[in-house]
This record gives sequence, structure tokens and C-alpha cells, in this order.
Amino acid sequence: MSINHRLQLIQNKAVFISCVVPLYNEAANVESFFPELTAVLQKLTDKYEIIAIDDGSKDKTIEKTLALAERYPIKLIAFSRNFGKETALTAGLENCSGDVAIIIDADFQHPLTLLPEFLKNWAEGYDMVYGVRNNRNNESAIKRNFANLFYWLMAKITKITIPNNAGDFRLLDRKVIDAMNSFKESTRFMKGLYAWVGFKSLAVPFDVQERTAGKSSWGLGRLTELAITGITSFSDIPLRVWGFIGFIVSLISLIYAIYIVTVTLLFGADLPGFPSIIVAVMFLGGVQLLSIGIMGEYIARIFTEVKQRPKYIIEKKYGFDQ
Ligand code: UDP
Ligand code: MG
Repeated sequence: MSINHRLQLIQNKAVFISCVVPLYNEAANVESFFPELTAVLQKLTDKYEIIAIDDGSKDKTIEKTLALAERYPIKLIAFSRNFGKETALTAGLENCSGDVAIIIDADFQHPLTLLPEFLKNWAEGYDMVYGVRNNRNNESAIKRNFANLFYWLMAKITKITIPNNAGDFRLLDRKVIDAMNSFKESTRFMKGLYAWVGFKSLAVPFDVQERTAGKSSWGLGRLTELAITGITSFSDIPLRVWGFIGFIVSLISLIYAIYIVTVTLLFGADLPGFPSIIVAVMFLGGVQLLSIGIMGEYIARIFTEVKQRPKYIIEKKYGFDQ
């Protein structure tokens, strides 16, 4: 879509916006979130849809969202269980029909006041506009350091550039949505995929708000899992580095072997070295287990992919047929 066309759509309030909102135990937020979101969208356009994905919530999120859907243009996809945020977003993008999609959390951590700016940047020709957090102060130091380490490692060992502190809060043009939907893989690391597809992108800084209600579902365990998914989905270096390490270790042992033979020939076979053997055996045993473990990590992912199970199971779809 040309820039002129985009501008025209915006001026006529005719741009079709799909808002994709993943929900997991957000009963305490939906009743205030959807009305506020609608108010913001109404100012921007006359044509919009809200796609709410219930990711197997255990509270009253579905009931409350369905009640709101009577008054607001909300479409609901309810998963049969919790499949995770990445999968919820995937379902949202696969089921939205807008010219643009805006992905936003339901806990008010992503400021709604940014949406007009997202759209303005889209009209100026950006195909992807993403929010970047100014501060992570509301997160624990350990989470913050962990995140920094992850971004550093990803930059080192993958070919994609994932912008620091950018999340799922973003606007995607139809081109980008279609590109995202063309991925066949079922294990999805969204941050990596956004970077992988490319397109003209712009970062917009914002201050993360405190969660208004409920609590974050991302503990350290889940974050670690996500990080490993990110690394194994976008890098084969952990798999291949062992070839290099093996080469170096073999080289060292060869040199050491030559040394031992020489010493034995010159001075006889009076070689102590019991401790060094133990150390070498344990070290190499550890290295081997580690490398097998990492190989297992990749094989497990191949296993998941070849099974070709559906990415998610929808228990209930509401509002899509009208
Ligand atoms: N979410 C989800 N599935 C999950 C976990 C979270 O759909 O398994 C949703 C959640 O309802 C929220 C968004 O993803 O709208 C972000 O989750 P959360 O606030 O827990 O993460 P944080 O803001 O701490 O990164
Ligand atoms: Mg949150």
C-alpha cells in the first residue's frame, strides 16, 4: 500500500485496524481494558475489530469478555488450554483481517496513548512500529540482568538483530502479518520472527506502566524456557561449537602425547600423573555430556516439529461469522 493510500485511509478514518489481545487470567483487567481500548480506536478509525485470545484462563476472563462483546466489537478465540503467549499471538494474527494489526497486552502495561503515534508512523511508510521500553525498573534485578545477557548472546550467535527491550507491543502492516502467517514452524519465538521477516521498522520508546491488576505470568523458569527457544530457533552455533572444541582438545592431547613419548624415550617411564588423568577424564566427561545435552535440546525441537501437531486447539470461537 502506497504512503498516499495510507494517508488517505487515515484521513478518512477508513483504515481497518485489528487489535490482537492475548488474555491469560485477566478477569480483573478486561472490564476496564476493552472499553478504554475501544475509546482509543474509535478516535482513530470507523473500522476496527478486537481479537481477544483466551489462552486457557482459569478465572472468569472468557465470561467477562463475552459479556463485553455484546457492546464492543470484540471477537473471541478461546483455546482449549494454556498454549502460551507466543501461540496466542499467532492465533490472533492468523485470524485478523485488518490492514494493520496492533498487538497489545491487556494489563495496561502498554500505554494506549501510543496507538495514534503507531498509526501515524505507519502512514509515513513504516511497515512495523514497535514499542521499546525505556525502563525495566519495575522488574527484579535478576530478571533485568538475565534479559541483558539474553540480548547480548542473541546478538553474538544469531544473524538476526533483535532490538533490546522491544516486546510484542507493536503495529504490523498487512504485508508483515502475511509474512508472519507464512511460517510453518510450530515453536514460535515471536521476537525473533519479527526481526527475521525484516521490512521497514521503527522503534518508539515508552514507559512501562505497572500492571493494574493480576500478576505477571512470566517467572524465571518460563523466561529461561523462552530464551532457550529463542536461541535454538535462530542459531545453530551451540550445536556446531563442539566440533571446534573437540578439535582444540584433540590438538592439545596430541601435543601432550608427543611430549609424553619424548620424555619416556629420554628419561624412562617414571611418569606420575594419576590426578591429571582423573581431571582430564572428568573434564572431558563433562564436556561430552554438555554437548550431548545441547544436541538433545535441538533434537527435541526437531521431534516437536516433525510431529506436525496443530499449533493450538480452539475450544470456542465467538463473533467471527457475522
Ligand atoms: N499471556 C498469555 N498467555 C500466557 C501468559 C500471558 O496470553 O501464557 C498474556 C497476558 O494475559 C498479557 C500478556 O500476555 O495480556 C503479557 O503477559 P504478562 O503481563 O504476564 O507478561 P509481562 O508483562 O510480565 O511480560
Ligand atoms: Mg504484563
